[in-house]
Amino acid sequence: MRIDALDLYLIKMSMVGEFVTSFGGVQEREIVLVRARAGGASGWGESGVDGVPLYSYEDAATCWHIIEDFLAPAILAHEFPSEGIGPAMADLFSSWRWHPMARAAVEEALWDLEANLREVSVQRLYAGDRETRQRIPVGISLGIQEDFGHLAAQISEALDQGYRRIKLKIEPGKDVAVIEKVRHQFGDIPLMVDANCGYTREQGPILKSLDPFELLMIEQPLEHDDIPGHADLQAELETPICLDESIHSLRHARLALDYDACRLINIKASRIGGRTEALAVHDLCADRGVPVWCGGMLESGIGRLHNIALASLPNFQMPGDLSASRRYWHEDIIEPEVTVGPDGFVEVPDIVGLGHRVREDAIQRLVVRSTSLRQT
Ligand SMILES: [Mg+2]
Repeated sequence: MRIDALDLYLIKMSMVGEFVTSFGGVQEREIVLVRARAGGASGWGESGVDGVPLYSYEDAATCWHIIEDFLAPAILAHEFPSEGIGPAMADLFSSWRWHPMARAAVEEALWDLEANLREVSVQRLYAGDRETRQRIPVGISLGIQEDFGHLAAQISEALDQGYRRIKLKIEPGKDVAVIEKVRHQFGDIPLMVDANCGYTREQGPILKSLDPFELLMIEQPLEHDDIPGHADLQAELETPICLDESIHSLRHARLALDYDACRLINIKASRIGGRTEALAVHDLCADRGVPVWCGGMLESGIGRLHNIALASLPNFQMPGDLSASRRYWHEDIIEPEVTVGPDGFVEVPDIVGLGHRVREDAIQRLVVRSTSLRQT
């Protein structure tokens, strides 16, 4: 089968509040959306890029360029099987270099397109013959705060809302003392930290001093390209290291596990180049007895629903960063919005496609740029 068209949309969404990590603050997101159309059906995907290349070297402009000038022409010229469209796209570009977030956005759209053509859920396609859950536990990620009182209020609110794990962003100078206060005030809550590459190898002793607080994990303490450094650090720490920015592919995941550089992996399909590669990392980690969990890229509802479907697979053993739409957005672009139940679980839609309607009216209000790439 041929793909009839790929529609690209660049939208800008304002966040409910600024989100601060060791990279800096985010108040507005630039999001690239892809709609794939074929056989009278369509499917949606979202890239994890932002307007600024901080978390990743990609940004909205490079993502657009790669899709429009390279991926789309090859996809529109390709004969796809009627089943396994997403994996077929991953195979088509397997020897292409990098640009994982551009590739992931298109691949997501193709998975959703196939789900709609076959009238099954995206979850069912991702799962294949793996088991799935219909409810998944949800954690919350809280940005760096200037004021501890403000952070404590956010933690209290998150616990009241039922979130099943609290993740705090840290950076040098806003780490040990903050965690000590949190443990003192909130006791034995499920707590982890994310450094977003903010520490050097020489600052390892600071991270070692977090051991007594029995954190679930320290996420990505060192630079993204320092897997050996993480291995040395993990040998020193009792706290498990989770890698995020370091894992760009199945090969990176295998390397990290071979080096014993981490005890967990945060799977973000957009960082890894798509759902096919994410599934391969999931399966590798399952074989090695290493749990994974699903991270977030401040996605709109489209990316969030893809993440929820993926996170229902069995080796996603820890709560994911899959917060409710209202946590980040005044108004989401899906209907109904993603909600988290009072017990801190989100339901996985078991209906056709993504299971929620994509609000094209909202996309049209937010759109900055759009184009439609079609069969010629
Ligand atoms: Mg992270």
